[in-house]
Amino acid sequence: MFHDPTRIIRLDRRKFLAAASGLIAAGVLPKSVLALAGPHSFKQGVFDITVVSDGTFALPVAVVSPDAKPEELRVLLGLAVDAQTNPVELSPVVVKSGEDVILFDTGTGTNMDATSGHIAESLKAAGMEPASVTKVIYTHAHPDHLWGTLGKDGGPVFPNASYHMAENEWNFWIKPELASMVPKDLEGMVRATQGQLLAIKDMVSMFKTGAEVVPGINVIDTNGHTPGHVSFEFAGGDGLILTGDVVTVPKIFFAHPDWKFGFDADGAAAAKSRRMLLDMAATGKKLMLGYHWPYPGLGRAEAKDGAFVYTAA
Ligand SMILES: [Zn+2]
Repeated sequence: MFHDPTRIIRLDRRKFLAAASGLIAAGVLPKSVLALAGPHSFKQGVFDITVVSDGTFALPVAVVSPDAKPEELRVLLGLAVDAQTNPVELSPVVVKSGEDVILFDTGTGTNMDATSGHIAESLKAAGMEPASVTKVIYTHAHPDHLWGTLGKDGGPVFPNASYHMAENEWNFWIKPELASMVPKDLEGMVRATQGQLLAIKDMVSMFKTGAEVVPGINVIDTNGHTPGHVSFEFAGGDGLILTGDVVTVPKIFFAHPDWKFGFDADGAAAAKSRRMLLDMAATGKKLMLGYHWPYPGLGRAEAKDGAFVYTAA
């Protein structure tokens, strides 16, 4: 008998789905491992906002926070006792404002993991093309927010866009000596990041915190996760804050805003920014968007006993 390759694939797919659905039910895998989460659109003031999925990323449990034991983190995250990673979403945001199609963060690109780098597919699912993006605005320059700027061929994925980054963030990453200043295992990441930045350097504009990056969208200084990390507040209603990586894992950092996240460059500064932003959201009853939060990343904060309670919105 000849093998029927389609049958083998079907069986493997079925086996995979059976295993995956168990893990999803147990909260170990996000639903989006089966398929990319579909675009999620809503209106905020004059802005048409669409959350698009770049995919997911397996965050090592040990990275979630060095301020707690992995056993404790697993319990708080609802993970299995032997889980080594906590899956998180990667959710760039598209904002239509007048003639502009503005993309906040570009995803991981294709060099990181098969589970991520799918922003182009998600844009298509939302009826958009990468070529229709007119502005790319970054919260910060970490790989999972920036490396989707260039395609496999080294060319820009968003060929008609201008690029916008906080001045402090750009100046930090672009320093030629940075690669030799960081620990050896981060050297490659720094060089790859600099490659992406150098490719857009003639098209980049730098903005300052406290300014409007686009009419109705204010830049909030939330440094700490990186030296020039920023968040954005959108006018309309009580306001919407695009938080970036101020709060990476809501199950942990709403209740423990002073804990360090493993990838925070300056833990104390990051904690200060986190408290400031959560306090601002809780006091003003503002809606929040978190890049790594359960899809589509919308949530609210409520102040409680010196910390915060997270509710998905
Ligand atoms: Zn991130």
